[in-house]
Amino acid sequence: MTDHENKVRRVSQEKAAKFKEYAREYGEARKSIPTGFNQAEQIGRRKQRILEVLGGSEENWNSWQWQMRNRIDDAEVLGRIFDLRPDQVSEIKQVAGKFRWGVAPHYASLMSPEGGGCPMWTQMIPSIEELAMTGVPDFSGEEYSSPTRALVRWYPDRVIIYSTNICSSFCRHCLRRRHIGEVDKPTPEEDIHEALDYLRNNPEIRDVLYTGGDPLTFGDDKVDWLLGELGKVESVEIKRIGSRIPVTMPQRITPQLCKVLARHHPLYINLQFNHPKEITPEAAEACARLADAGIPLGNQTVLLRGVNDDPHVMKALCHELLKIRVKPYYIYHCQGTIGIEHLRTPVETGIEIIESMRGFTTGMAVPAFIITPSGLGKTPLQPNYQISSGEGYIQLRNWEGRAYKYDNPPPRRDEGNDDQ
Ligand code: SF4
Repeated sequence: MTDHENKVRRVSQEKAAKFKEYAREYGEARKSIPTGFNQAEQIGRRKQRILEVLGGSEENWNSWQWQMRNRIDDAEVLGRIFDLRPDQVSEIKQVAGKFRWGVAPHYASLMSPEGGGCPMWTQMIPSIEELAMTGVPDFSGEEYSSPTRALVRWYPDRVIIYSTNICSSFCRHCLRRRHIGEVDKPTPEEDIHEALDYLRNNPEIRDVLYTGGDPLTFGDDKVDWLLGELGKVESVEIKRIGSRIPVTMPQRITPQLCKVLARHHPLYINLQFNHPKEITPEAAEACARLADAGIPLGNQTVLLRGVNDDPHVMKALCHELLKIRVKPYYIYHCQGTIGIEHLRTPVETGIEIIESMRGFTTGMAVPAFIITPSGLGKTPLQPNYQISSGEGYIQLRNWEGRAYKYDNPPPRRDEGNDDQ
């Protein structure tokens, strides 16, 4: 090799050694992060316990209708499954008087509350801290952004249609907990028709998201009808569904449902996986079915204290998502909805997480960090990579924090001048 070749090889090897060192810390941390795959045995044991207490069979477990009918919403039953102390049972009952709860058996099988701090438990089981009653019922200001009863509009060209208040599991951090109420209640059909009329009268709307509650808790015929009605509105170019079903009750994603969904392209589904342990073989299969039906899948994580407010956990989540063909899309800062202050983190936590990922892992794995102020739509936040600027240059730092000057071409004199 020439001297030059020797030099470039040596410099490259030094750089590569540094990058390897960057990867080492995460590689070590990742070994102790539970995923639905590496915890399959423990989850399987919990499933057997749940079946024993609920009196169900393997066949029952695989039926989404059974999962829905057997949502665990009784603190005594939960206490029997998890051997809770009487004071724990009584706390849950106390909160249940104020905020409804319920969890699908599948999701309950992911929980391991022994020792405290289980991220799945934190997301679904009432905590006495909810009774602090901080926050507001409608933090994102949907009420004042609803030109019809079931429709929310924050933007020029897209809207949300609220289809139901039913979920297979009720997340404690839900921004729509004011809708959850005490009983399952699909949005009346006349409200859906009113929303569809709004779309017909406002043809600049080209993108419609069905949300809830969870629209995939409906039977196949209702899902078909909802998407079909949207398809009849000429100006609607794309349809979207927001759903946690592949996370909380993957049994619902049947081949038949996927056939129905595939009739309504272009259709996108956004999910909400919040922790790597939620990515089980069953959830992976559900996502594979949806992806095979031609549906692009995105993930909208909520940043939650004690669940995923750790850069390694968030990175592992995003890596596991890409493996099951789900693109990490957003991390939402948890809204100040009533009773969930204890789950919120400082905004800076989200920015630090993005900073720990950008450059350190594939760009596809890095979601956008989003704040949703009341009634004002989304505001993206990210670390500041610009240090300063001057004539003909801009000073930046790269993902490692190394500062550099970047040539910044001035605007062309003839720009915008049609005579030139
Ligand atoms: S699944 Fe969605 S709508 Fe239902 S409780 Fe959870 S966050 Fe709220």
